Amino acid sequence: MVVVMAPDATDEQIAHVTERVEGVGGQAFVSRGVVRTIIGLVGDIESFHGLNLRTMPGVAAVHRISDPFKLVSRQHHPDRSTVWVGPAGHQVPIGPDTFTFIAGPCAVETASQTLEAAEMAKAAGASLLRGGAFKPRTSPYAFQGLGVKGLEILADVRETTGLPIVTEVVDARDVTVVAEHADMLQIGTRNMANFGLLQAAGESGKPVLLKRGMTATIEEWLMAAEYVAQRGNLDVVLCERGIRTFEPSTRNTLDISAVPVVQSISHLPIIVDPSHAGGRKDLVVPLSRAAIGVGADGVIVDVHPNPENALCDGPQALLGTELRELASAVRIMPPALGRVDAGERVRG
Ligand code: PEP
Ligand code: MN
Repeated sequence: MVVVMAPDATDEQIAHVTERVEGVGGQAFVSRGVVRTIIGLVGDIESFHGLNLRTMPGVAAVHRISDPFKLVSRQHHPDRSTVWVGPAGHQVPIGPDTFTFIAGPCAVETASQTLEAAEMAKAAGASLLRGGAFKPRTSPYAFQGLGVKGLEILADVRETTGLPIVTEVVDARDVTVVAEHADMLQIGTRNMANFGLLQAAGESGKPVLLKRGMTATIEEWLMAAEYVAQRGNLDVVLCERGIRTFEPSTRNTLDISAVPVVQSISHLPIIVDPSHAGGRKDLVVPLSRAAIGVGADGVIVDVHPNPENALCDGPQALLGTELRELASAVRIMPPALGRVDAGERVRG
């Protein structure tokens, strides 16, 4: 942490800052310039926060040098992590050496629709199945998902297809039941800063897919991941799913630069959701190609056997030609960038 003193700060004010820092066990290194004095602090940053240094007379600014997040930061964990998803005997990696293709319906509607979507996903090369049983809908009148019945359908479909399940949990009270059925808990954009839910997910024993809040900065997103990690769960995968901007042609704006930015400061894997980012099926293939090109560790995509009748997000669901195009991009592009398909690295 660095304290920048005002140009007219007095020697007493500088000494007062140093004394307070030393008073909480820190060290203060004063460096006097021609115009300003700056003080470098070494020690426990949280105890410095408690000093409210910014409010002290003569202090112009306080800057932090280290990341505010710790467990998910690359500063203390330089190697990028791999998170394993699935039951013992069939664990799919998400990490820096592989590319993980996740696909499935936005929502679990019926057993047959979920099975059909899962078979489409598998045929297209997906190694994990997505599908929402608890749906966080903007409108309380929209389809809210099948709840526990949906989880049971997902578990049956995992039996039939062998695809481990990624599904959303929207309420801390449901974490236990979701964790009993699913292989990975998704926390959606609307709940990224629901700290009680993050903590409960951190205690669930299951890996967590943490989507970026639609108005969250990267730092806020990583602080949310820190909440999960702090409860002893470092198996967190981040998902860039688009942020709100002034541009109305797409549902959200895919912040593609978030991928390399996150990878430079956090060791956690990061995947991209081109379906919820664009909200349009014609954008899913180009945005997936962009995600692969920028170095994402995977993509998560909506597919549906009958998008016209989908109860949720039909306009972005893939079927037919687009799904074949996506399958081919996912097969061809990652190997050209040195990544192996996650399905080939399943851990037994
Ligand atoms: C979803 O993946 O079904 C979903 C609701 O996504 P998001 O939270 O990104 O809107
Ligand atoms: Mn959706």
